[in-house]
Amino acid sequence: LTILVIGSGGREHAIAQKMIQSPNVKSVYCAKGNAGMKKDGIQLVDIAEDDHSGLIKFARENGIDWTFVGPEIPLLNGIVDDFTAAGLLAFGPLEAAAFIEGSKDFAKKIMKKYKIPTANHQTFSDFAKAREYVIENGAPIVIKADGLAAGKGVVVAETIEEAIEALKDMLQENKFGSSGAKVVIEEFLIGEEFSLLAFVREHEVYPMVIAQDHKRAYDNDLGPNTGGMGAYSPVPQISDEMVEEAIETIVKPTAQGMVAEGRSFTGILYTGLIATDTGPKVIEFNARFGDPETQVVLQRLESDFAQIIDDLLKGKQPDIQWKQEGYSLGVVVAAAGYPDDYEKGYPIPDFSDLETAQVYYAGVKEVAGQLVSNGGRVYLVEASGESLVEAQEVVYKLLNNTDTKGTFYRKDIGFKGLK
Ligand code: ATP
Repeated sequence: LTILVIGSGGREHAIAQKMIQSPNVKSVYCAKGNAGMKKDGIQLVDIAEDDHSGLIKFARENGIDWTFVGPEIPLLNGIVDDFTAAGLLAFGPLEAAAFIEGSKDFAKKIMKKYKIPTANHQTFSDFAKAREYVIENGAPIVIKADGLAAGKGVVVAETIEEAIEALKDMLQENKFGSSGAKVVIEEFLIGEEFSLLAFVREHEVYPMVIAQDHKRAYDNDLGPNTGGMGAYSPVPQISDEMVEEAIETIVKPTAQGMVAEGRSFTGILYTGLIATDTGPKVIEFNARFGDPETQVVLQRLESDFAQIIDDLLKGKQPDIQWKQEGYSLGVVVAAAGYPDDYEKGYPIPDFSDLETAQVYYAGVKEVAGQLVSNGGRVYLVEASGESLVEAQEVVYKLLNNTDTKGTFYRKDIGFKGLK
């Protein structure tokens, strides 16, 4: 197989690297990828994610068997629709199905119609009405921009004033442009968060092992929300029954609901959940793999990843086996200042002889043969172990002995799993 992966982050590094390990895979290209991927034999393609015709031309001219789409923006721009129309195979939801991530209001409508457990909520585009609803319901309360906002469109407001401030930003000051023209206001849920990803082909659902992300920038879940600062899998404090209940009452009915809506979903369905006292509830759906969950979840996949995607694309029954034992844990190293303004251009340490850990690159570029930082999340260090503590020790021992100038990382990834 010759495969094209679209995207350029740590998630795509993990996806492409797992695919290259398959005995049936000859080459993996990544558009645009990043310079750190080259060490694993991934070939970079200098075509932008939004240049659909350029990517289609590349796929045709280079004998690409199929394309795997990593990020949400091309999916919501209809890249899979365009590849399909060109007679090419691409794995990911069509634009109409990716809308489950593209509009939180739409996702809530699906959940309501198909009785999928989620936080109580209401959607508003009028500031005065939204304000009234917040005052009636009180704080804490959660305000979410309807559309994509790169993880920054959610405000968990501790006070009514803070909630009204968020409403002003979104509905009056257009802080998120059209993404914030509508807002979903929802009940604050209490419980442990977890991410449940699944391979989905229309009504068929093949769940993955669960993971837990760490969204806040600093230790003990303090500081601003980020794209994700680290993850681990499995999540011992979430029971198998909780996961089973989420699959049966949430993931399967969602896939079936999308089919019934004429928006059949084929791709990776990511469900962000909170384990409440009354069972799992949805906090968000994504139409693709999550970053950094992918880097730890794929690590635990025992079967041939490229073969699974090939089977799903070709109407065959996939064989999907997960490791039953052990843990994987990954810590993100981010530019100092992230998620706000940060500097670029710090040299990346040499990780070429790692034996016990793996590095997945994200915001990096090559300058005169040297990798340097070039983005908010720079790289992630992952290790596996028999226990969570063991995996954690390997990662932190390595990072403690690494020159991380110009960057920072959380020192407590996995702490909830050890309580
Ligand atoms: P992503 O970047 O993953 O797409 P997002 O911007 O879509 O994220 P959400 O995942 O919906 O945002 O919310 C971000 C964080 O806010 C969650 O991880 C969770 O910690 C918190 N959160 C969201 N909704 C609720 C809720 N109803 N109750 C409590 N906390 C919530």
